[in-house]
Amino acid sequence: MEIKTVGMVGLGTMGAGIAQLCLQAGFETVGREISPAAAERGHAQIKRFLDRNVEKGRMTAEERDAALGRLTLTTELEDLAGCDIVIEAIVEQLEPKRQLFAALDEILAPGAILATNTSALSVTEIAAATRRADRVVGLHFFNPAPVLPLVEVVRGQLTDEAVAQQVYAFAKAIGKDPILCHDTPGFVVNRVLIPVLNDAVRVIDEARVTPEDLDKACRYGLGWPLGPCALIDLIGVDVQVHASEALFEGFKESRMAAPARLVNMLNAGLLGRKSGRGFFTYDEQGNRVD
Ligand code: NAD
Repeated sequence: MEIKTVGMVGLGTMGAGIAQLCLQAGFETVGREISPAAAERGHAQIKRFLDRNVEKGRMTAEERDAALGRLTLTTELEDLAGCDIVIEAIVEQLEPKRQLFAALDEILAPGAILATNTSALSVTEIAAATRRADRVVGLHFFNPAPVLPLVEVVRGQLTDEAVAQQVYAFAKAIGKDPILCHDTPGFVVNRVLIPVLNDAVRVIDEARVTPEDLDKACRYGLGWPLGPCALIDLIGVDVQVHASEALFEGFKESRMAAPARLVNMLNAGLLGRKSGRGFFTYDEQGNRVD
């Protein structure tokens, strides 16, 4: 089945960016959110990204308007029925993803592909909630999705190789530089990154260093473009904690478990940029204000 129409479930931090890429590449895109207000927030975010592209001369105002014209917003899952591929970017928890995939399996045409943007959950377990595990893949973007070139195309245990190759070609068509890998906890990048970020957070308490100075140490001592605290704020404390839980589940290595400091931040609603406060404080546009 040729991919013409894309469904995007969840228009949060990642979903809005992925939808923007699809719209810019010329795909009709249906965005599904849980409420009209959430859909409107997603739409505003996509428009903000596209406006910035116009300001920077990367696209014309006409191209932006045409891209926005290809977007349909909905709160009804049934409105995704005509999509050739549906990409999921909802909360990083297995059960909600499995429920969504089972429901989509009922609605979509038999040839349609289901893709999950999960950071560290098992693509195979998500696929097992459907009767089309051969047509389910991981399609893991990096934050911010419109900017970072890498996408991991993840084969679940039962993914058909032709489907993996088609999704790889789709990732290229929306301007990404994909890699193909198998479904192992954390795939490639997060298998390396998540334990390193957890180590870094533990160092705050062990070495009694401030988040500011920890970031400075990693930037100037290790050459990181962004310090670990700023990076976790960007990723989302909730995403880091849930991804850590999934990695810990897979490997049982203690450094993969979420540090208590991060769990406390999650419980207090300090999620990073998206909630306005994490390790640092942010304005509505996500710029640091402290
Ligand atoms: P987010 O909280 O910013 O956005 C999630 C969105 O999904 C919210 O707007 C929420 O209203 C919506 N939603 C929840 N349930 C829904 C449903 N059933 N139908 C439609 N919409 C629904 O989260 P995020 O950071 O965008 O992460 C989404 C996924 O992407 C997670 O699996 C995460 O692990 C993964 N991911 C995140 C990052 C990152 O840096 N944030 C990077 C790569 C992958």
